Amino acid sequence: MPAMMDSVYRFRVGDFRCAAVSDGTYSYHNPANLLFIDAPREELNRKLSAIGIDPERWTEFVSDYSCLLVETGGRRVLIDTGGGTLGPDTGKLTANLRAAGIDPGNIDTIVLTHGHGDHVGGNTGADGRSAFPNARFKMVRAEWDFWTSRPDLSSMRIPAYIQKVLANVGPERLLPVRDQVDFIEPDQDILPGIRAVGTPGHTPGHLAIGLSSQGDHLLYVSDAILHPIHIEEPDWNASVDTTPKQAASSRRLLLRLATSQNALVHGFHFPFPGLGRIETVGEGWRWQPMTVR
Ligand SMILES: [Zn+2]
Repeated sequence: MPAMMDSVYRFRVGDFRCAAVSDGTYSYHNPANLLFIDAPREELNRKLSAIGIDPERWTEFVSDYSCLLVETGGRRVLIDTGGGTLGPDTGKLTANLRAAGIDPGNIDTIVLTHGHGDHVGGNTGADGRSAFPNARFKMVRAEWDFWTSRPDLSSMRIPAYIQKVLANVGPERLLPVRDQVDFIEPDQDILPGIRAVGTPGHTPGHLAIGLSSQGDHLLYVSDAILHPIHIEEPDWNASVDTTPKQAASSRRLLLRLATSQNALVHGFHFPFPGLGRIETVGEGWRWQPMTVR
């Protein structure tokens, strides 16, 4: 049976034993611009009001960060490592893993969906060294190359305070674990039943992760879908999306995949534990969060 702690939510996908594990929360300012820069403002305001958000007062988006642990065939696989020291309330992943009886030293595989600080920030600990000494890290080569080459983001729409954070990701969070990295390509199996789904746009080599076991499916959409409103409005790109047109088509690809598989869907930035399903509504889609106790 699924079991809920505040910070760890256990469930199964076929034979895979999974747990959404919280890394904490982070507060983003000017969220309408951050998440929905391409949205016509009146329509956005209507959508926000419909989910109980007063658009005039929406100055802060407090995002949950939730990573995913998958145990299968003696392997312990972690998808993303959270924000580390990014904010005052991030970096709780390893403590929450330990509280759930999982020693970070026993994680053997880490899949990094993309090189943003909220997903790779926990790669290293307070001493600047790998927080997962016995793991192999899997990352798309193009993504690694982009963030370790001091990318010039100045022509993009990414807010200045986030650009600053992103500039440090390569030297502080990626290069220290370089010897532990195995490069992968999009659309390949990482392990049996664990697939890298190429979904570029949010970043150049962004991945979603598909789990399949015994006819059950889970789709970890990571930052291809940042907010449930993106499910209804896949063309409303975020200012943090590096190539917005690609981001929108990746979103549609995931929505079609999720509905065709009737997959459980996990959103890293959705309210913890981030799980639900995608419903088809006419030509479009709608988020149906899973009720958890
Ligand atoms: Zn993110």
